[in-house]
Amino acid sequence: MLVSLKIRASFRGKHVSGSERIVPFSVVNKAIDKLCNKTKNKNVDYISFKVKPIKEKPILVEKTLKIERIEFRTYEEANQKAVELLSSITGIKKEKLKELINLVHTGASPDRENMRGAMIVNQNCERIEIDRYRGVRTVNVDYIHRRSVLRKLLEKGLTERTLDALALTTKNMLYPYMIAEYCISDEPDYTTGYISTKDTYYRFTPLKEKGNPKGGRIYFVKNNIDINDFYRFLQEKPVLIKDINL
Ligand code: AMP
Repeated sequence: MLVSLKIRASFRGKHVSGSERIVPFSVVNKAIDKLCNKTKNKNVDYISFKVKPIKEKPILVEKTLKIERIEFRTYEEANQKAVELLSSITGIKKEKLKELINLVHTGASPDRENMRGAMIVNQNCERIEIDRYRGVRTVNVDYIHRRSVLRKLLEKGLTERTLDALALTTKNMLYPYMIAEYCISDEPDYTTGYISTKDTYYRFTPLKEKGNPKGGRIYFVKNNIDINDFYRFLQEKPVLIKDINL
């Protein structure tokens, strides 16, 4: 039996870190141990675990999106390129895309904080996520052989953070009405971000200004999407990935 394992660590009620895995029930203790170890050097006063059996048959994916790395002199230059790429795929005007992206760099939630999940934008450039504070969170996705895939990625000079982002966006792109994604981290010093298309993960460095605590994701979707079905897919459908596409 497969289970979904979720760990969340917080300090004084504020979220510090979270991880999710899909593992066979027989190794759940080992997986909890590993995830706990990750919080050792962090200042946390509360850790919660959720273990839930996976009832639905997972989608098996041979390979993640193809990874392309592009370095820029400045984050402004990278965003200019991101806007061009996204405009050609979504048909949204560049000026409108700039406004949206700017929102992610300055806090996309109505209280100007980071959203917990992603913003959803259709080709008319309308925000259609059900809750603008929360957004939508993509969960229930993992690698079958996480350790060996991570080793491959590290050998290429990439990080575990990329591994998780790549899994998440690979799942997103499986949905037929999903067209593209834009992401910057909310960690102030992590300036690399990405743009995903149906087959490629473009890793842009830098995509945000160093020191900026704001971050977020935009999911670009087709106009005729069924939003409830999209939520169900992102939040519930289990996806297991075999390998990365380097
Ligand atoms: P991170 O890449 O973890 O630094 O997250 C960057 C931003 O993406 C966060 O501030 C959230 O707005 C959003 N986000 C984080 N995790 C998810 C997720 N599982 N699904 C959708 N959006 C997410």
